[in-house]
Amino acid sequence: MAFFPPLLLHYYITYHCNCRCPFCDIWHSKLYSNTTNTRVNDVKQNLIQAKKLGVKFVDFTGGEPLLHPKINILLKIAKELGFRTSLTTNCLLYPQKAETIKGLVDFLHFSLDSLNKIQHDDLRGKNVFNKVMHSIDTARTLGESPDLLYTVTDQNVDQIIPLSEFAKRLGLILIVNPVFSNGNRHTVSFKNLKFLEKYQFKPYVYINRAFHRLRKNGGNRKKNPRCRVVSSTLVISPDNYLLLPCFHFNNKKIVIKNSLLKIYNSQEFKEYKHKQGRFDFCANCVLNCYFDPSFVYKCDAYFFESLQAKVQYIYYKHIKKKFDVLFGRLDYRPALEIVKEIYKENDTSGLSL
Ligand code: SF4
Ligand code: SF4
Repeated sequence: MAFFPPLLLHYYITYHCNCRCPFCDIWHSKLYSNTTNTRVNDVKQNLIQAKKLGVKFVDFTGGEPLLHPKINILLKIAKELGFRTSLTTNCLLYPQKAETIKGLVDFLHFSLDSLNKIQHDDLRGKNVFNKVMHSIDTARTLGESPDLLYTVTDQNVDQIIPLSEFAKRLGLILIVNPVFSNGNRHTVSFKNLKFLEKYQFKPYVYINRAFHRLRKNGGNRKKNPRCRVVSSTLVISPDNYLLLPCFHFNNKKIVIKNSLLKIYNSQEFKEYKHKQGRFDFCANCVLNCYFDPSFVYKCDAYFFESLQAKVQYIYYKHIKKKFDVLFGRLDYRPALEIVKEIYKENDTSGLSL
């Protein structure tokens, strides 16, 4: 499927973050301190050219994307150009920005790694749990339907139990996202991946088995790479460079200066496409955000497992939820009340707030 145009644009609009997640490099790397936020005009020019290239989805990311003071304008530009937009937030700023971005994000994700306040705050390095709860209430009041993005490590794997119950009661999708290792202590063992798979068909739980398969197979192989990052995804930095082959291991930064189309059609870009997944640093890679679009670019077991997960997502989000609303099956009390009730009901299982 080498002829497919790129599907996704990962737009890094800021490298700043107000959280301190121990599994993330962005907040403590010197590379990202003293950097500026992306400029509105650059975004506009790049999105116009990305549209011509056939890109369908734009993910505004960072850092914490809500720290960009003009995030609402960036989203508006993307929507006006006909893109499907996504954004993941740690929720510290969501309640105060919710009104301004209402209706502009097609896939809104709230990071929630545990229903245990202490554990979630520990995993995010900040006092953020109550803000997530408040954000859920705010979003639901505004008619938004955020997904809950659960980054799984061996430390919080048992949280699938209360989190899946929470997601079901609220009618919000729980995206189960195994953490990727960058040499730190945060990993998910094969045993725990298997444990998670027991929840694959629980209502509102999204588990993409292709990610698990990739880990069980030892990640990307240099000799026969599964990575299609350059074919599937454009990556742009806040200072307006195209990053190749990917954000985490970019070894080439090309200044864009209103020439995304030209760069895309250049010989150099084609060479990177040929080398994607074949660099030394590509051995054993399991970076979810690049493999998710990569799975679309070859018809194999990864493709079908990923497709199955997406079909489940659409079913929960657009069909099951409608029926659950119609038959009064969802719980509209404040999120924190529901959390407390789940813990009370599961008192004997050792879960604690
Ligand atoms: S919220 Fe996101 S960008 Fe910020 S430190 Fe955590 S993982 Fe990194
Ligand atoms: S590091 Fe990973 S995502 Fe980046 S090009 Fe290599 S295999 Fe692909």
